[in-house]
Amino acid sequence: MLDATPKKITERRALRVNPCKTCEPVGAMYAALGVHRCMPHSHGSQGCCSYHRTFLARHFKEPAIATTSSFTEGACVFGGGSNLKKAVKNVFDIYDPDVIAVHTTCLSETIGDDINTYIQQMEIPEGKIVVHANTPSYAGSHIVGFGNMMSGFIQYLAEKKAVSNGKIGIFPGFVNPGDMREMKRLAGLMHGDYIMFPDTSGVMDAPNKGHYEMYPKGGTTIEEIRALGSVEKIFALGELTTKAPAIKLKEKCDVDFAALPLPMGVEATDQYIMELSHFLHTEVPESIEEERGQLVDIMLDAHANFYQKTAAIYGDPDTVLGLTAFALELGMVPKYVLTGTKNREFTKKAEALLAKFGANDCKAVDNGDLFELHQWIKNDPVDILVGTTHGKYIAKAEDIPLVRAGFPILDRYVHSYMPIVGYRGAMRLLELIGNALMDRQDRDAADEDLELVM
Ligand code: SF4
Repeated sequence: MLDATPKKITERRALRVNPCKTCEPVGAMYAALGVHRCMPHSHGSQGCCSYHRTFLARHFKEPAIATTSSFTEGACVFGGGSNLKKAVKNVFDIYDPDVIAVHTTCLSETIGDDINTYIQQMEIPEGKIVVHANTPSYAGSHIVGFGNMMSGFIQYLAEKKAVSNGKIGIFPGFVNPGDMREMKRLAGLMHGDYIMFPDTSGVMDAPNKGHYEMYPKGGTTIEEIRALGSVEKIFALGELTTKAPAIKLKEKCDVDFAALPLPMGVEATDQYIMELSHFLHTEVPESIEEERGQLVDIMLDAHANFYQKTAAIYGDPDTVLGLTAFALELGMVPKYVLTGTKNREFTKKAEALLAKFGANDCKAVDNGDLFELHQWIKNDPVDILVGTTHGKYIAKAEDIPLVRAGFPILDRYVHSYMPIVGYRGAMRLLELIGNALMDRQDRDAADEDLELVM
């Protein structure tokens, strides 16, 4: 007989409500946009491609170019090989990129399209390149897609030369162009001769020149990606995103790497600077010491406004770890720390970070969603939310200030130009969080005054 007794459900496992992540191809598309004269290509239906382009365009307020294999019923039944071959020919004929970076979607992954074989069967024009990465959204988030596309480029292009080119490689992680510029500025001050890959500065923050440029001047060049195979060392910043491509490069070209956190807050930025200093045998210049000193001075000045303030921090794994570390340095209590990306390493690292500062009552989860976060906040509120635009519904419902940081930010401008990494980025974060907390204090004080008057 069947047991009709309802099973006790203690935990929501499969369903995600207001997920704190997006599709794998979004990350692959963003990584490909960080390559000079590259056309990202979505192998699947038009709907996926339109959604992913729109998502990026809404965050960066810039056109996010990409083409699609435009699957219809026929491709679903017979495979997408002929669509892809025709698409690649058309894209080279019409848009003339130097490289096409193909990523898959759920549909092409489910029917089992073998992209590598299709690429081998294609007629690719002389001097042009096609690379690919597998990015099924049901297996990972945009963060995984970003890393997979980096690995795809490395697999196809990186070359080990007999003699090192003497450069360092910087993998910036899934961050804004403004952050990439700041990482490069600091590496430049340390006299580093570097290749940043990918590099969306000059692409997703390109200036308005009065005419449309399909391929702006930014982005890592193909020659630079080839040269990654002969650099002295890779600095993989945002290790939960960039460690996998760094391992891929190590396997292919035997290039050593240092996996580091995103340089956010004091300690993680110190770590980035000191790693550069040790490796390059350069002294830390006075200008960097001055920036650090200014940041510490501001932190001390404003300390009373941050001390013991509780926060919910959510978004992408490396960004959330960076924001959490800085919140702890400010004396705050990051009561809830959450990412939508499935990655147990995130939870372990977040718990270790919280334990280091004695914040043992805080909660850290990966593979979570914002519905879950909202339930926690309803049961035990926080003073401030720090994360993406999608948290605004929690902020509104619970009347909690929200500081927008990370990806995506769909309802504000300028954020992608302004760094949140490095000492200067920390100053900006401190200003945003501090102002939000103090505005709230002012409002509460005004409400109390009004009650006294009445
Ligand atoms: S089918 Fe997959 S890749 Fe396409 S929009 Fe849906 S989840 Fe994203």
